[in-house]
Amino acid sequence: MSSALVWFRRDLRADDHTALHHAMTEHEQVWCVFVIDPADPARPVASGAVDFVRAALIALDRRLARDGGGLILCQGTTCEVLARLAQRLQVQQVVANRDYGPAAQALENAVARTLATVGVRWCSYKDQVIFEHTEISTQAGTPFSVFTPYKNAWLRRLDEHAVHALRLADCTTRRDRLAPPPHDLQHASILVENHPAGEVLALGRGAGSALPQDSAAAGTSAGTAAALTRLDDFLQRIDRYRELRDFPALAGTSGLSTDLRYGTVSIRHLVRAACARRSAGAETWLAELIWREFFFMILAEHPRVVEGAFHRQYDRLSFVNDPLHWSAWCAGATGYPIVDAAMRQINSTGFMHNRLRMIVASFLVKDLGIDWRTGARYFATHLTDYDLAANNGGWQWAASTGCDAQPYFRIFNPVRQSLKFDPNGQFIRRFLPELAAVPDQWIHAPWLMPAADQAASKCVIGRDYPAPIIDHAEARLQTLARFAAARA
Ligand SMILES: Cc1cc2nc3c(=O)[nH]c(=O)nc-3n(C[C@H](O)[C@H](O)[C@H](O)COP(=O)(O)OP(=O)(O)OC[C@H]3O[C@@H](n4cnc5c(N)ncnc54)[C@H](O)[C@@H]3O)c2cc1C
Repeated sequence: MSSALVWFRRDLRADDHTALHHAMTEHEQVWCVFVIDPADPARPVASGAVDFVRAALIALDRRLARDGGGLILCQGTTCEVLARLAQRLQVQQVVANRDYGPAAQALENAVARTLATVGVRWCSYKDQVIFEHTEISTQAGTPFSVFTPYKNAWLRRLDEHAVHALRLADCTTRRDRLAPPPHDLQHASILVENHPAGEVLALGRGAGSALPQDSAAAGTSAGTAAALTRLDDFLQRIDRYRELRDFPALAGTSGLSTDLRYGTVSIRHLVRAACARRSAGAETWLAELIWREFFFMILAEHPRVVEGAFHRQYDRLSFVNDPLHWSAWCAGATGYPIVDAAMRQINSTGFMHNRLRMIVASFLVKDLGIDWRTGARYFATHLTDYDLAANNGGWQWAASTGCDAQPYFRIFNPVRQSLKFDPNGQFIRRFLPELAAVPDQWIHAPWLMPAADQAASKCVIGRDYPAPIIDHAEARLQTLARFAAARA
């Protein structure tokens, strides 16, 4: 009887799952495994991510168990675990869906080599993107470095493929091929539930909150059913996405980034949902899903961007890196309310709205003169939806070091951004209770508030809320000079 082992990675669902689909189609018996590897750089780190993955593993195991299967949970070095388990189960093949960061690629290569030494075949599949980096290229056959032509080429290719062809053949009839964990290996759900977070999946436990409480994207529940509920809710609002998506106080976005990060819903399902809608809002949302693939493409084609600027000249950019400014940014105590509210959001919920990610990243690099890599690492340990490709792309965009990035001379003014995207200070007040009674007129720049108003609103600057740690206009000039030096 031919048999296979499916290695689950960032694809924690049982439906519309490419590797599982192939395993069930091509083999008569199929086991499923998730490996907790302390050395795997792609493991969840932020505590919200750890909690999300724990819950998603339980949901996945239960879903597989409904069809007579289950999820085996192993801890150890991925290569050793997979080789040992493959031999123990006597499978002919191990299969998985591909990941695209340099470390993930290196791990896949090592797995393939290790399995070969024990005579087990290896196969990996495209699953977490519609088009891999090699599938969309310029007429000259080179990778794109500008988003809009990439998006147009992506959309043309999607037309050629036809959206309905994105659906995997239904393999419900093959579900009886799923095998439960052998008697001496427990179901993942039992293991996860019986061990506190400190023991299971907490290997990379970093900073951040407990389960996110506040965000639209927060995984208050994880797993495919929860992801589909979030999608259903968003589909009621998708037509207004274009107008609402930039306002952090409103539920304008989908909140699906953690689901996409850990694959509790398939990208094919989301693209089909967006294409079925045919509204301006859905079109804009689809473009965000294409940004996601654009950054996967950039990472796969230019792995050096993990640590270096996409535009090499900006590796010469000098930074100030003042430790006091860094601490103030992290704590949400810069004196700029929109920046501080955003930082308190990430610190307390594990999520930050996209507009705010752009604002705080720009502020860190272009107002405080702190290296974008330091900020990117902070996000990596605090965001529940942390994803190397999107995070690196977002930081390099804001820092103007990336491809198709914000031009270096465009420097967000934090007060104007605040006025435009949180006009009544609704978001600011939610995360900065010390500013709750500050009148709308002063909420974006409270240091300008007359002393009498400060006293009346119980927000004395320097006592209840910090004075700004830098002068934006001055910092702007210094940043332009540092960019000019790097470009010279
Ligand atoms: C500095 C910075 C860091 C970021 N770090 C991450 C990260 O670690 N993980 C992450 O998933 N996104 C990251 N983003 C992109 C974006 O902020 C989040 O994807 C978005 O806020 C998630 O909320 P949502 O699911 O409601 O998004 P929606 O607006 O509903 O978008 C739908 C999906 O499209 C994708 N998407 C949207 N915008 C982008 C984008 N600019 N780049 C790539 N993909 C995008 C996400 O998968 C998102 O879930 C970052 C952006 C910036 C500026």
